Amino acid sequence: MRYVSTRGNPEQRRFCDILLEGLAPDGGLYLPTSYPQISADQLQAWRLIYAEQGYAQLAFEILSLYIDDIPPADLLAMCQKTYTKEIFGTAAITPLRPLEAGVFVLALSNGPTLAFKDMAMQLLGHLFEYELARRGEELNILGATSGDTGSAAEYAMRGKQGVRVFMTSPHGRMSPFQQAQMFSLQDTNIHNIAIEGVFDDCQDIVKAVSGDHDFKRKYHIGTVNSINWARLLAQVVYYFAGYFQATTQPGQRVSFTVPSGNFGNVCAGHVARCMGLPIEKLVVATNENDVLDVFFKTGVYRVRSSDQTHETSSPSMDISKASNFERFVLDLLQGDAQRVRRLFQDDLQREGQFDLSLDPLFQQAKQGLGFVSGRSTHADRLRTIQDTHRRFAQIIDTHTADGLKVAREHLQADVPMVVLETALPIKFADTITQALGHAPPCPPAFADLPQRPQRVTVMSPDVASVKAYIRKHCEIGA
Ligand SMILES: *Cc1c(COP(=O)(O)O)cnc(C)c1O
Repeated sequence: MRYVSTRGNPEQRRFCDILLEGLAPDGGLYLPTSYPQISADQLQAWRLIYAEQGYAQLAFEILSLYIDDIPPADLLAMCQKTYTKEIFGTAAITPLRPLEAGVFVLALSNGPTLAFKDMAMQLLGHLFEYELARRGEELNILGATSGDTGSAAEYAMRGKQGVRVFMTSPHGRMSPFQQAQMFSLQDTNIHNIAIEGVFDDCQDIVKAVSGDHDFKRKYHIGTVNSINWARLLAQVVYYFAGYFQATTQPGQRVSFTVPSGNFGNVCAGHVARCMGLPIEKLVVATNENDVLDVFFKTGVYRVRSSDQTHETSSPSMDISKASNFERFVLDLLQGDAQRVRRLFQDDLQREGQFDLSLDPLFQQAKQGLGFVSGRSTHADRLRTIQDTHRRFAQIIDTHTADGLKVAREHLQADVPMVVLETALPIKFADTITQALGHAPPCPPAFADLPQRPQRVTVMSPDVASVKAYIRKHCEIGA
């Protein structure tokens, strides 16, 4: 299997080369040159594998089709270390539970940080450690977070050889639960840096440090952002696991609704479908930051500036642009990478938008690729959380509530609808309390979280101080 950029750079790369890289040199995102095709027989064989040998083995089967530069025994061992009952809470790893007739919730958020990003990030931790050891290299991950991504990265990389994490976050602006989750880590390779500013200040610092090419090279600065192909690939697996749990017959079709921000999660569903998984519809659910909903309804993709981006009660979907979207657009335009380059490099840079509304491929693709969308607001979220609690005695988180609200607008008789649960409610306790009048239950493993000692360095929004901090910790080797 080889990988190429969405923007037409002809150079072909292997999996482990792109694993540790961010963007392709031409600014595009990496995609496999083709999607492996799964026959109906193969799908049935995987159904049995998931039932009899479990999620880790299923993950190995799927990843093997895309990774041919890691010996199979090593890849299998990493899958087995990652997808365990101890780490993800159940033997099914991503258990499916029924809600009303024909609607199911696929639980993706029972990993160490209680959000679906663990599904990919936990595997990434092992892949990074493995590949860095093989190359005799080290990596300093520098990131900016306002919540889920940073904690998932820290829990995946804690204690890993050859990796340090320097995670900036806006001082005092994360939820108390998320802050305690990150700052209570005592591993010496994990560094929390609270910046006296807002999330954009953190992101500006990361950009400035990464933009200093000498510093970046000398201190091996890298990222774990959502455009990493390995993250997307790991997420493909749970669409298969969800499908097997929602169906009994070969060939049966299922729809998925995905609470979406950067389009990473739902893009993995698109890949699963391109491989031959019988998905009827992929329903893209957004919050008030509805750039994706607007695109699927109109064909116009218009990014927001940061001051036009709403702060909502489903904050992990508060995006200004959907960073994985470019991958999907390449497929929509049937592989025309030159056109993707013009849209993303020229039109988007110059005008902040592009328009495919008049393009026959957009209309065709909506049918053929089976995408629909919807939007959910704070009021919808509260209502959905209340209603789900009242009717089913279940508490769902705010992002999952956005998904469920939009899913109900796209139900079809005889097609099971699977809503992806992307976080547990305890992470967004304030909104749950607003909806229900009481806080959601805290999983027992986190009961003492508020009491755990915290480790964080507070800094002013100053690039030089962050660089000095990184330099110092690389030199003392901690
Ligand atoms: C990251 C995240 C999302 C959005 O996922 P994308 O892959 O960016 O579309 C949704 N819900 C939660 C809880 C998240 O952490």
